[in-house]
Amino acid sequence: MSTSPASKRVAVIGGGILGVSTAVHLLREGASVVLLSEQGLASGATGRSLSWLNSAGERSTPYHQLRVAGVDRYRTLFAADPGRDWLQFGGGLMWHAEGEQIATETRHEYETAIGYDSKLLAPEQISAAVPGVEAAAVTDSAIFNPGEGWVSLPDLVEFLMDEFHERGGELVLNAGKVSVTVDGGRASGVETAAGQTYPADAVLVACGAATPAVVAPLGVEIPNGSPVSMLVLTKPVEHELKAVLNTPRAAVRPNPGHALALDHDWYEEHIIEHSDGTFSIPEDVVQELADEAAKLIAGHPELKPASWKIGYKPIPGDGEPVLGELGQVPGCFVAFTHSGATLGLIAGELLAGEIATGRKHPMLATFRPGRFS
Ligand SMILES: Cc1cc2nc3c(=O)[nH]c(=O)nc-3n(C[C@H](O)[C@H](O)[C@H](O)COP(=O)(O)OP(=O)(O)OC[C@H]3O[C@@H](n4cnc5c(N)ncnc54)[C@H](O)[C@@H]3O)c2cc1C
Repeated sequence: MSTSPASKRVAVIGGGILGVSTAVHLLREGASVVLLSEQGLASGATGRSLSWLNSAGERSTPYHQLRVAGVDRYRTLFAADPGRDWLQFGGGLMWHAEGEQIATETRHEYETAIGYDSKLLAPEQISAAVPGVEAAAVTDSAIFNPGEGWVSLPDLVEFLMDEFHERGGELVLNAGKVSVTVDGGRASGVETAAGQTYPADAVLVACGAATPAVVAPLGVEIPNGSPVSMLVLTKPVEHELKAVLNTPRAAVRPNPGHALALDHDWYEEHIIEHSDGTFSIPEDVVQELADEAAKLIAGHPELKPASWKIGYKPIPGDGEPVLGELGQVPGCFVAFTHSGATLGLIAGELLAGEIATGRKHPMLATFRPGRFS
């Protein structure tokens, strides 16, 4: 279809960071946008994400480049107002379990070789370089990546939605399970659970871990490797931490309101799935994670969990992002990725450009959904 961006109507399904970011970038491109979400905004992974902004460790070169561009866009946003308490660049500190020093050194060498800012710190160097960390918790050396940061995604979504409304976007909340409608083999719009239809020139499916299920009725298979995970927010606590910590027993980042956000994976075996599709976890496991995190914070403050959320963490079956138009259903695009916090701004920008103009962006070339066909 040769509709110009200015008159293009786009329906975006999913009120997480990828749907919201792409919707706002589409509005900037001049498209008209309707954004539909099953429940409220940020009700999926976006509402329970550690959201460490990084490209640490080893991965494919295109994925690394996309993540570095992702961090760059956050840097631009940060520079416009460094005082926001929901987007900060205090670096990232990681270390492996005792006895795995070689893994730490190998990772540091790899990061250095690709130009990723990576410092190998001995335990006695940590307090000065990374304030707020209990250096005694580090037995061997640790890697400090000074260029990394963190974002509170619910705050980012709120920030972007102000622009969404200013630019005249249409928001449909509590739409239930929205599906893609097809006419003559091409996406023609969307239909809510209640049967309300919204015709569109293009559709974006940004449904997090549910993305494969939403495109399955279109005859499109996208492998799904999404695990169940948890994010804990603590009650406000005195701390000086600015960095994101990734350690053998807890991952920790600051959260607005003097709280901390906690994550890891060792507790996954304790998560219970209920028949209605919801999840729970014993409270003593949540407290154990808080206790593990407390050992990492200078002064060992007592950490009290204030809330915790459990659900699917979107991860495509092959671990790489799935971004772009479906070959089988022209006009229908998908955004399904691991590390959607890091990629939130850049993926929205590049996808919006493709949807609005029809021009394929070279940085998305290896991430097309067609690789599974
Ligand atoms: C514990 C945890 C830690 C993480 N840590 C990091 C990290 O450190 N760094 C990083 O970069 N990323 C991290 N992530 C990943 C990142 O948070 C996610 O990739 C990102 O939030 C996904 O956003 P999304 O918009 O794709 O999906 P979601 O936020 O899941 O949003 C999808 C939305 O679509 C809606 N929906 C689903 N199906 C339908 C339908 N049929 N109709 C209408 N609406 C529908 C859902 O209700 C939901 O609101 C983490 C995630 C978790 C859970």
